[in-house]
Amino acid sequence: PAKPRSREVPVVPQGVSRDQFLEALEELKRELGEENVEVNDKPLKDGWYMEHPNTHDMMTILDEEEFVAGAVVYPGNTDEVVKMVKWANRWLVPIFPISMGRNLGYGGAAPRVRGSVTVDLGRRMNKILDINPEDYTCLVEPGVSFYGLYEELGRRGLREHMWVDTPDLGGGSIIGNTVDRGVGYTPYGDHWACHSGLEVVLPTGEVIRTGMGALTEGGENTWGVFPYGFGPYSDGIFSQSNFGIVTKMGMTLMPNPGGHESFMYTFPKEEDLGPLMEIIRPLRISTILENVAQLRHVTQTIAASGLPKSHFFSGSGTIPPEIIHSAAAASPVGDHTWAYYGMSYGPPHIRSYKLAIIDAEFSKIPGCRKIDPSTLPEDEYFWSRDRIASGTPDIHELRWVNWAPNGAHIAFSPVSPIRCADATKLFQLGKRIHEKYGIDFMPAFIVGLREMHLIVEIVFDRDDREEKERALGCLRDMVDEAAREGYGEYRTHLVLMDQVAGTYGWGGGALGRFNERLKDALDPNGILAPGRCGIWGGRYRGRGWEM
Ligand code: ADP
Repeated sequence: PAKPRSREVPVVPQGVSRDQFLEALEELKRELGEENVEVNDKPLKDGWYMEHPNTHDMMTILDEEEFVAGAVVYPGNTDEVVKMVKWANRWLVPIFPISMGRNLGYGGAAPRVRGSVTVDLGRRMNKILDINPEDYTCLVEPGVSFYGLYEELGRRGLREHMWVDTPDLGGGSIIGNTVDRGVGYTPYGDHWACHSGLEVVLPTGEVIRTGMGALTEGGENTWGVFPYGFGPYSDGIFSQSNFGIVTKMGMTLMPNPGGHESFMYTFPKEEDLGPLMEIIRPLRISTILENVAQLRHVTQTIAASGLPKSHFFSGSGTIPPEIIHSAAAASPVGDHTWAYYGMSYGPPHIRSYKLAIIDAEFSKIPGCRKIDPSTLPEDEYFWSRDRIASGTPDIHELRWVNWAPNGAHIAFSPVSPIRCADATKLFQLGKRIHEKYGIDFMPAFIVGLREMHLIVEIVFDRDDREEKERALGCLRDMVDEAAREGYGEYRTHLVLMDQVAGTYGWGGGALGRFNERLKDALDPNGILAPGRCGIWGGRYRGRGWEM
C-alpha cells in the first residue's frame, strides 16, 4: 500500500530553494521533454522486485523519507545525459544515476542525498547494441537486464551457443550490477572482470570511451575483445564510485560448455565449516570447483522455502536450533547444517573426472551426504541454483524475504581468505552479534576464486522501527568488529558507505584522500551522486553529511 504522505513536496535538495528547484526542472523539461521529467510529489509506493520504485529504497532500513529523490529524469541517449549533467552543474543540483535501480539490499534506487534528481537511465536507454556470436561479446546500454539479454539470445537462436552469467536475481541491469561489482555463478561470475570497455559521461559533461572504444575510428571492432586499450586503465575508477555515468559497456559471454551438472552436498555440523574451507580452497583455486559456489546455512534453507518465520516459531527472539532442524527435516538438508551448491561443466567424461575428485574430497567430512538431484521436486531451491549456474536468470532467491512480515533485507558482505581460521572467526563473530541483537543468523559463504565473501542477509520488517534499529545496530557492529580483525566489505548499502569507506583507512586514510582528489578534479561542483561509496565532493565535506 502507498505510504501516507508526510513530507513537503517536492523534496528539495539542501542548499537549493524550492522556487529555484522548480524553475530548474522546468528548464530541464524544455530540454528533455515534459514527459521525461517527473517531480516526486506522489505518495511513495514500495511495489515489489519486478515493479520496483525508482524514487526511494523499497527496502529502506531508515525512515523511507531519508533517501528519497526530488525528481526522476529519463534521458533517451548519451547526448541527453550530457545535457542533464550540464544542467546539474548550472543549478548545483545533486543527481544520482541508476541503471534500473533493483540494487536491493544495497539501497535499491535511492539516492544518498535527499532530494537528488535520479537519472533513471534504464527506462529509455535499453538497447542491446551488438551481440557477436563469434567473439562471444555484446555491447549494452544501462536498461538491458540479465533477463533481457537472455531473451534476446533466445530470439536470435543463440541460447544454445552462449550463456549470460546472471546474479541471484536476474531482473537487474547488467551495467548496474557490473559497476557495483556484483557477482554471478558461472565461471564468468566476476562481472567486472568480464566487462570490456565503457562509454562514460563525466560529471562536467565530456564523454569518453575507455579500452578499444577510444580509438579515433572503428573502435567497435575490438571493443569487446580487449579491455585495456592503451595507457592508464581507467575503468576501475568508474566502478563503485561517483566519477562518471556509464552509458555503454562491452561484456563477454560464456560459450556453452557442452554439458553441465549441478551437485549438492550437505554436512552435518556447524563445526564442519572450518575443515570444509581447507577442502574447498585448493579445489576452487585449481578450478576443479569451477563456479562461484555457495555454502549455505540451514536457516537460510528454511527461509528459502518462502514460508514466514511465524510458520515455524511463534516465540520471541531468534529461532532455536532444534526448531530449525525439525523444520529442515523435510528439505534435502535434513538434519544437517550446511549445504554446498556447485556445478560441473563440460561433456560427461570431463565432468565425471572432476566430480570424482570433488566427491572424494568432500567425503572426508564425516557424515557428508551427496544429494541425488533426481529425488528433488521441481520447485526445490536446488533447481534455482541449477538454472542460475547455467546462465538462466531466476528470482526464486527472493523467497526468503518472506521470513519477516513486510520483509526487507540488507547485507553484511565481508571478504575473507578461504581458510578454516577465517571462516570460523567470521562465523562466530556474526553469530554472536546477531544473538546480541536478537536477529536470526543466515550466513552463506560465496566462494570466489582465492577469496570468499561471507554474505549475511538480515531480513527485517520494513514497517517496524525498532526492528530496523536493531538490524542497523547489528550491521554497524559487524562492520567495525570485522574490520578490526582484518575483514573489509566488498560492497555495501548506502547507509553504511561512510563507515565501510572508513575501514579502508590505511596510511591515515590515504585512499580516501586520493578519491577526494579525483572527485574534486572530475566533479568540481560535486553534483554526481554525492556520498556514494563514502566519496563526497568539496561542497559537502566537513558539513556533517557522513553517517
Ligand atoms: P540494478 O539495475 O542491477 O539493480 P542499479 O541500477 O540499482 O543496479 O545500480 C546499482 C548502483 O550502481 C546504483 O545505485 C548507482 O549508484 C550505480 N550505477 C548504476 N548504473 C550506473 C551507471 N550507468 N553509471 C554510473 N553508476 C551507475
